Amino acid sequence: MFNRAVTAAQLKPWLKFNYILKNVTFTVRSFCNSCPRYSNKDDEPVKPSILVPEDFQAELDGETYCPPLAQPIKPHVHPIKKSFDLLGITGRNDPKTHNNLYFPRHCDILIIGGGIMGCSIAYWLKQRGHDNGLRVIVVEQDPSYTRASTVLSVGGLRQQFSLPENIEMSLYGAEFLRKSKKLLSGEGLEGPDVQFHPFGYLFLATEKGADQLIANHKLQTSLGAKIQLLSANKLKQKFPWINTDGVELASLGLENEGWFDPWSLLNGFRNKALEMGVEFVKAETVGFETQETIVPEQPGIGDSGCYHKLKRVHVRLHDGDIRTIDFSKCVMAAGAQSGKVSKLAGIGLGTGLLRNALPVEPRKRYVYCFHAPEGPGLDCPLTVDTTGSYFRREGLGGHYVAGKSPTANEEPGVANLDVDYTFFDQQVWPDVALRVPGFENIKLKSAWSGYYDYNTFDQNGVIGIHPYHTNFLFATGFSGHGLQQAPAVGRAIMELVLEGKFLTIDLSRFAFDRVIANQPVFEQNIV
Ligand SMILES: Cc1cc2nc3c(=O)[nH]c(=O)nc-3n(C[C@H](O)[C@H](O)[C@H](O)COP(=O)(O)OP(=O)(O)OC[C@H]3O[C@@H](n4cnc5c(N)ncnc54)[C@H](O)[C@@H]3O)c2cc1C
Repeated sequence: MFNRAVTAAQLKPWLKFNYILKNVTFTVRSFCNSCPRYSNKDDEPVKPSILVPEDFQAELDGETYCPPLAQPIKPHVHPIKKSFDLLGITGRNDPKTHNNLYFPRHCDILIIGGGIMGCSIAYWLKQRGHDNGLRVIVVEQDPSYTRASTVLSVGGLRQQFSLPENIEMSLYGAEFLRKSKKLLSGEGLEGPDVQFHPFGYLFLATEKGADQLIANHKLQTSLGAKIQLLSANKLKQKFPWINTDGVELASLGLENEGWFDPWSLLNGFRNKALEMGVEFVKAETVGFETQETIVPEQPGIGDSGCYHKLKRVHVRLHDGDIRTIDFSKCVMAAGAQSGKVSKLAGIGLGTGLLRNALPVEPRKRYVYCFHAPEGPGLDCPLTVDTTGSYFRREGLGGHYVAGKSPTANEEPGVANLDVDYTFFDQQVWPDVALRVPGFENIKLKSAWSGYYDYNTFDQNGVIGIHPYHTNFLFATGFSGHGLQQAPAVGRAIMELVLEGKFLTIDLSRFAFDRVIANQPVFEQNIV
C-alpha cells in the first residue's frame, strides 16, 4: 500500500490521529513520520517514507492541521509504570532499573569472593546441589580480578608438602586438573585448557634440611605421590645445568607436579558455575546483620542466653548504593582480605568464641621474569633452592620466572602492588645465579606482585565452620598454595554445607577452632 501516493482525503483522519498521539505521553511520534528524521550524511533531513503530496507535507511540517481539542486527552500513565516510578525504576536500560529489578535479595549460600576458591565452592555446591534448587550467590567486588591472588600467582602444583592434608588436597588438585576440560564443559560450553606443564618440583636441601626432606618423602609416597629422592651426584647427572654446592639431598616430583594457567582454571570454574545457575553480584561486602535468638536454659548444659545469628550481608554496588542479601549460610573466600572482611561479622571483636580474629592478611610477593639464553632449557622443574629462592621455566623461548618469600624483617608494605627491583638484585638473582651458572647472564624483562592470603598463625588454610557463627564457613588463608588446592577445598566446603561433615579428605585439623585452642598446624614446605 505504500507504493502509491496517498490522497488528501485519506490523510485527514491520519493527521488528526497524529495530533492526538502527540498529546499523549507515549513516544509514538516516529510512527507518524511527522518529525524529520536525519541521515548520517551532513544531518540532511530524510524524506518520510510514505509518499505525501506537497501541500499536505507543509501542513504536516507546520503541525497546523487540527485545532486544539476542547477537551484534550489527559496523558495516561499506566498503573504499572506508576508503580515503577514509585520504586525508582526509570527505564529498561537504566542501570538503577536493572539493579532494582534483578538484584537478588536472598539465597541459600552466599560466597564472599569470586576468586578461585569462591568459584570452586560455587561450582561444587551447584554440581551436587543442582537438583535441590540450591540458590548460590557469589559477591565479587572486582570481576576483572586486577588484584586477586589467583591471577597473580605462579600457577604451581606439587605434592611435596609436610602435612597429609596438603598432600591429599594437591593430589586431588592434579586429578581434577587432568579432567578439568570435561568436568567444566557443558552444553555449548567448552571446558578450559589449563595448559599443565608436567615438569615437576625440585626441592633442594642442605645437610641440615635433609632429614626433613626424607620425612616428607616418606609421608608423600605413602599417600600415593610419585616423588624421587636424589643425592647430589644423581642430581648433577639428571640436571647437568645445576651447581650442587651445598646440596645434600634433592626431591623431585615425577608425576602430577608442575604448573598451569590460573586464569584458565578460574574462568573454567566461573563459566561452569554460571551455566549451572550460580548468580554473581558485582559488589563489595561492607557489613553483616544478625538476628537475636533467645537460647533457653538447657539443664546440665548451660544457662539461658542470647545468641546473634548472622542472617544478612550488606553490599555496596558500583554506584555507591547499599543493598542487602539474606542468606542461610555464608562462606568467606575473600582471599587476602578475609581477615578484614570477617571482622565485619564481629569475628575478633567480641568475647568468648568471638575474641579471636581470623589470622589472614595480605603479604606482598614479587615475581620476576627474565631472559637467560644459557639457562637450563626445556627440562627445568620448578626448583626451590636451599635459600628459599625459586625459579621455573616460562614458555619455550629461554624465559624464566623467579621469586622468594622475604623474611619477617623484610616484609614489604601492602598498600600497593608496586614491585621492588632491588629485591631481585640483592636477594633473588644472587641465589639463582649461584645455583644455575647459566643464570649469570640474564636480562630482567618484567615483574609483577600479588598478595599471599597469608595465615599468620601457621601458614595453612582455614577451612570449616566458625564455632560461634555456625552458619559462617571459612575457605581462606592458604599462604601461597591455595590455587592448586581449590578443587579439593571447594569439594570439602560443599560436603560441610550439604552433609555437615567431610566425606573425602578429613580437613578437621584446619578448622578455625585451632586458632581459639592455640594449636597451630605447621606446614614445613612453604615457598
Ligand atoms: C605471587 C603469588 C604466587 C603464588 N603461587 C602459587 C602457586 O604456585 N601455587 C598455588 O597453589 N598458589 C599460589 N599462590 C597462592 C594462590 O594464588 C592463592 O592462595 C589463591 O589464589 C587464593 O584464592 P582466593 O580465591 O582465596 O583469593 P583471590 O584470588 O584473591 O580471590 C578473592 C576475591 O575476593 C574478592 N574480595 C575481597 N574482599 C571482598 C569484599 N569485601 N567483597 C567482595 N569481594 C571481595 C577479591 O576481589 C578477590 O577477587 C600464589 C600467590 C601469589 C600472590
